[in-house]
Amino acid sequence: MQATASTVSRRLLGRLRDVMAGGGSAQERLDNTVRLIAADMVAEVCSCYVMRAGEVLELFATEGLLKTAVHETRLRVGEGLVGDIAAHARPLALADAQSHPNFAYRPETGEEVFHSLVGVPIIRGGRVIGVLVVQNKSQRHYTEEEIETLETVAMVLAELISSGALINPEELAAVDGNAVLPLRMEGARLTGGIGIGVAVMHEPRVVVQKLVAEDPEAEMARLRAALGAMRNSLDEMFEAQDLAFSGEHRDVLETFRMFAEDAGWTARIAETIQSGLTAEAAVQKVHEDTRVRMSQVSDPYLRERLHDFEDIANRLLQHLVRGNQAGTAASTDLPENAVLVCRSLGPTELLDYDRRRLRGIVLEEGSPTMHVAILARALDIPMVGRVKDALAKIEALDPVIVDGDNGQVFARPPDDIQDMFAANMASRAAKVAAYAAMRDLPPITRCGQSVRMMLNAGLLVDLPQLDSTGADGIGLYRTEMPFMARSQLPDVGQQANLYTRILDMADGKPVMFRTLDVGSDKLLPYWSSAREDNPAMGWRSIRITLDRPAVLRTQLRALVRAGLGRDLNIMFPMVAEVAELDSLRQILNLELERHRLRQGVAPDRVRVGTMLEVPALAWQLPALLKRVDFVSIGSNDLMQFLFAADRGNPRIAERYDVLAPAMLNFLRWIARECRKAGVQLSVCGEMAGRPLEAMALLGVGIRNLSMSAPSIGPVKAMVRSLFLPSLEEYMATLYDRPDHSVRQYLRNFALDHGVSI
Ligand code: PEP
Ligand code: MG
Repeated sequence: MQATASTVSRRLLGRLRDVMAGGGSAQERLDNTVRLIAADMVAEVCSCYVMRAGEVLELFATEGLLKTAVHETRLRVGEGLVGDIAAHARPLALADAQSHPNFAYRPETGEEVFHSLVGVPIIRGGRVIGVLVVQNKSQRHYTEEEIETLETVAMVLAELISSGALINPEELAAVDGNAVLPLRMEGARLTGGIGIGVAVMHEPRVVVQKLVAEDPEAEMARLRAALGAMRNSLDEMFEAQDLAFSGEHRDVLETFRMFAEDAGWTARIAETIQSGLTAEAAVQKVHEDTRVRMSQVSDPYLRERLHDFEDIANRLLQHLVRGNQAGTAASTDLPENAVLVCRSLGPTELLDYDRRRLRGIVLEEGSPTMHVAILARALDIPMVGRVKDALAKIEALDPVIVDGDNGQVFARPPDDIQDMFAANMASRAAKVAAYAAMRDLPPITRCGQSVRMMLNAGLLVDLPQLDSTGADGIGLYRTEMPFMARSQLPDVGQQANLYTRILDMADGKPVMFRTLDVGSDKLLPYWSSAREDNPAMGWRSIRITLDRPAVLRTQLRALVRAGLGRDLNIMFPMVAEVAELDSLRQILNLELERHRLRQGVAPDRVRVGTMLEVPALAWQLPALLKRVDFVSIGSNDLMQFLFAADRGNPRIAERYDVLAPAMLNFLRWIARECRKAGVQLSVCGEMAGRPLEAMALLGVGIRNLSMSAPSIGPVKAMVRSLFLPSLEEYMATLYDRPDHSVRQYLRNFALDHGVSI
């Protein structure tokens, strides 16, 4: 019987397994490997080059070339045929190598007598870490199967090289076949600030330990079982109500159909298993091949699919290696200075991490008013979103700089860039110190208008910021945050304890407790709801709590208990019509009454307000303002509903601007109505925390701003440098402009009038 390629490589892999398992140093194992390959492929030469720091390919082992050249011959990436293979991360097979324009003759190797050459890149994590080459004296035409065999062997060598036994990992370098390191990637600014650290993959890649297998049939059975399990778990995920809001799973599912049910993909994995690899090594090999191929295509649609492909391959590997014990990096030992790299991240997932170790977050998706971005801002973690191919381009433990101010990310930055950012961080620290020094200065404009500056909070860790920033109180306490950070719904006692602690820590300053605002992208792990096509406009917030009043009653009972003997401020989110407020108020009254009857005591004063984030409510202002003590504009949601633009959809994140004339006119009108009715109006959406936007809010007549702690300093500096009458006069010329945005005009005003933005 004629030996097929897969039996050849299986035989070779069997021998390689013995070599790898046998004793001897890593160098000896590598020497034996190249000897084995040369013999098995009937070639005069087999050599292995390893990429060293500085992107130099060094000859590490050879059978057939002069031994004196080992560790002496070095080629740059792109130099010679070996350098060409590394630069393009693709195999090269030439019957007449010397006539190739890239052939670089190295006399010390004695290779002039060899005419044909076949080489493959040694790839690890999508990037080239070496090159494996075979040469013959004759003008040999290497077959596809022989190239495949070499690629399979190269996988085994990738393990040996990156194990650290052959070469110190710090001396090892890698190129991704497309871009030469280091890498600067553009994205969108989600949270300002600079973070320097090392990459941690939110969903860690699976490390394949066992590469070679003896029984292909057993491996095929494992593959089939894992494919089945993956299919089931994806189906479950699709059904699972608590994933209904994420959107991401649909892409994954679609891709699952594209890849997992694609006979071509599974056939390639099966073929690779036949060559002697374990099922997981085969999945990884096909994955690496596809990854390199796809990273070189320019078609944007196909490149997008690369992410999905990463997901699917990783999921399948997880099923094979860990039996679907997925887990994120939150449950692993985080380095002291972790930069989290993720495709997307939910707020609950972020809360799973030890915040003290997170220096920055890089997302492939994301928009600034997504809740995870709001949370990152509150935690003061720099975050850049919409960084294309971040998962493919950044490797775990790569040094990374997250420049949240400019929406850029540097992977493996050279020293001078690192130094520059370190210096920048120092000057930021000086600025922060300057803001801290302003803590006791009142937020009063140059013309004497005082502005109330409040904090947005949602976690106990936020409370000490009240003191450190000198803020006037908590303008928005997102009560859902502690709900999200737990594994089950807290009962009345637990909630009352929490709210009491918050009021104690606020020490007399007002706290606007917003009732549970879940749904859309804020999910409770223990509380599932049906899948919806449009969750942001679906069953969320008070729509849930009015339908399930027991949850709201529990929360209001706890708030009333915590507020005994003090002032209590309760704010209802997502109210769309006055009738809803009336129903909510009835429930609150029931709780207050219950308390009075049972305990004979009540809070000193209960102030009730609503968020204004659904435009319809603005058209009932006369009725609303008679019933409330305060109104707070949730500009994040208001903006999404006013412009019909999903706040969590990265594609349209920059489509409309909060500084559009439509938004400013709307806000100005609301401010006027509230002023007439004598009802306190504030803004607690993200726009209140950005100096330029906050300036515009003052211009339309709003005097209360609530924001995350890091914004207090910069916004206060703006307030103290502003002369309001000039701004009001100038803005009067902007309201009727036909522009998409008046941002540039406002910026120019600020620059011309010395307003600190
Ligand atoms: C808003 O919508 O602006 C707001 C403050 O609420 P959240 O971001 O929590 O939806
Ligand atoms: Mg909202």
